[in-house]
Amino acid sequence: MAGGPVIWISSFGIFSAPTGILIFNFACVRYSPRVPDATRTGEKVIRGIPVSAGVCRGRLVVMTDAAASIPRHEIPALATQSEIDRLEQALMATRQQVLGVQAKVESAMGAKDASIFDAHLLVLEDPTLLDEVMKLISEKRLNAEAAFSDVADHYMKSLAAVDDDYLRERATDMRDVTSRVLANLAGRASEHELPKLREPCIIVAHDLPPSKTAQLDKKMVLGFVTDVGGKTSHTAILARSLQIPAVVGLKNASRTLESGQYALLDGYNGIIILNPTDQTLFEYGQIVRKQVDLAAKLQDVRDKPAVTFDGASITLSANVEGADDIELVKDSGAEGVGLFRTEYLFINRAVSPTEEEQFQEYRKVAEALNPQPVIIRTLDLGGDKFASHVDVPKEMNPFLGWRAIRYCLQEPAVFRAQLRAILRASAFGNVKIMYPMISGLQELTEANAMLDACKEELRREGVAFNDAMDVGVMIEIPSAVLIADALAKRVKFFSIGTNDLIQYSLAVDRLNERIAHLYDPAHPAILRLIQLTVEAAHRHGIWCGVCGEMASDPVFVPLLLGLGVDELSAAGALVPPVKFLVRRLKMAEAKELAAFALNSENGAEVLKRAQQLARDIAPSLFENQ
Ligand code: PEP
Ligand code: MG
Repeated sequence: MAGGPVIWISSFGIFSAPTGILIFNFACVRYSPRVPDATRTGEKVIRGIPVSAGVCRGRLVVMTDAAASIPRHEIPALATQSEIDRLEQALMATRQQVLGVQAKVESAMGAKDASIFDAHLLVLEDPTLLDEVMKLISEKRLNAEAAFSDVADHYMKSLAAVDDDYLRERATDMRDVTSRVLANLAGRASEHELPKLREPCIIVAHDLPPSKTAQLDKKMVLGFVTDVGGKTSHTAILARSLQIPAVVGLKNASRTLESGQYALLDGYNGIIILNPTDQTLFEYGQIVRKQVDLAAKLQDVRDKPAVTFDGASITLSANVEGADDIELVKDSGAEGVGLFRTEYLFINRAVSPTEEEQFQEYRKVAEALNPQPVIIRTLDLGGDKFASHVDVPKEMNPFLGWRAIRYCLQEPAVFRAQLRAILRASAFGNVKIMYPMISGLQELTEANAMLDACKEELRREGVAFNDAMDVGVMIEIPSAVLIADALAKRVKFFSIGTNDLIQYSLAVDRLNERIAHLYDPAHPAILRLIQLTVEAAHRHGIWCGVCGEMASDPVFVPLLLGLGVDELSAAGALVPPVKFLVRRLKMAEAKELAAFALNSENGAEVLKRAQQLARDIAPSLFENQ
């Protein structure tokens, strides 16, 4: 159960230490939209897309991303001196801020820890860097923001490329200082204010890609609100795994909401209520109370097998992002890991993790869960998951670009280190490897050739590994479905990545809130693609799982099982409700639903029927709907 020990119960709900988060927060549970009464004095209701259930209330902190919107324009010749003055003021303000932080750290932790800020101060005084910036302003007539960020960017890239740990760390200092300078130029607080938060808050941002969420002190975050995004954006996936409410697609919340405003966030219905009245708080308190019963029911099934009411066994696994999730997997009642998203090890750091670091992380998970399987997916950087130190050029269509296996095959040193780390970890548990974004046979062949080469090296070095480690592929590109027979002959398992399969098949960007209504897991085309994949897998005697978000949604679980899926891998927090539903489901009903769906011509009627079945067999998951 999430949230830690209960510390207080109020009319609003049951809160946990140390974050004050409401602990009864089950993402599968849908409540009938509360109809906010516009006449309640002082309340303001804003609607978005609900992506992670639960309710929280607290102060808003609006994150401004100075770096994402760096103004760039030519300045008139006469204005160069005032532009230089403006930059100098921003540099002075930044210096004051850094000195302030340094003083606080020194009094709390001692001079040694505070000395790390000396490097930040040095950046602000670096004559070569500042000369270059001034030249861009006075000679090229570039505005201060663009000039500073261009020069700093050039320095960061050069530092990050040097083969010296100390110098590479300086790239991080440069990034931090640059962000502060840009925020000061823009006259606003930067995301650097976040770590200084003293109380739990609701984070509001234009976007919260993993590179940013990785920096958040999760204990201080009650919920997420973003302008952009959809149900399968990685902000949404993270919120569900943290069991905190999230509402995305609010279009301009980060511009209209203000830090310090008090709000209630309803992740069930996708609404944010500013200045909620006592009546509203009371009503939400009632909803939370109802979850106490459900919590007990879910706890009851935790240690029971994932077997349908009529005796069909399925494998129910969890999705993880690192060794920190081990306890969550164990508490969830999952039977191992169906998807280890390794890219999170690469995000928010100055340099990529070494082979040894990766090995230690994979080994921890493999050992802790042994003999349960741990499926480690090789690096899926790109799309909406970028590591700031990895030099990936900005692309027009990053989801169609240099991503995942495409990146790895062109960066053999990175791929090789990961393959060796995974192989070494395979000696310590039931490790399997899985390649993301396979679009054709060639990628599988090349990846396997590299895997074989790594095995050969390890053999020569006398390092232990499991030579028979299973290799699988993610099926998340329509072309992979259509060549599934060829793939199935060469691998031990398939795992369908429905998040991407849906976006690529329906041509619906999974992050774009304007077309989120077209992102339809029940679309007949998607169901047929799943069916084709499962059939190809079974024809060749291998198993087929689903690790996309469809597997975490009790509404779609009967459909997937009816289509013959053998394994479901859900966010750890959502394993209990999925198991609860599976144990009430008859396979015959699931097959009937799948047959109906495969004959259907429209997703809306499939969804309706899937919702009806899920509600009939597990009404407590859908109370009040
Ligand atoms: C998917 O695409 O369904 C998947 C599980 O991978 P990711 O969400 O990390 O792209
Ligand atoms: Mg994917």
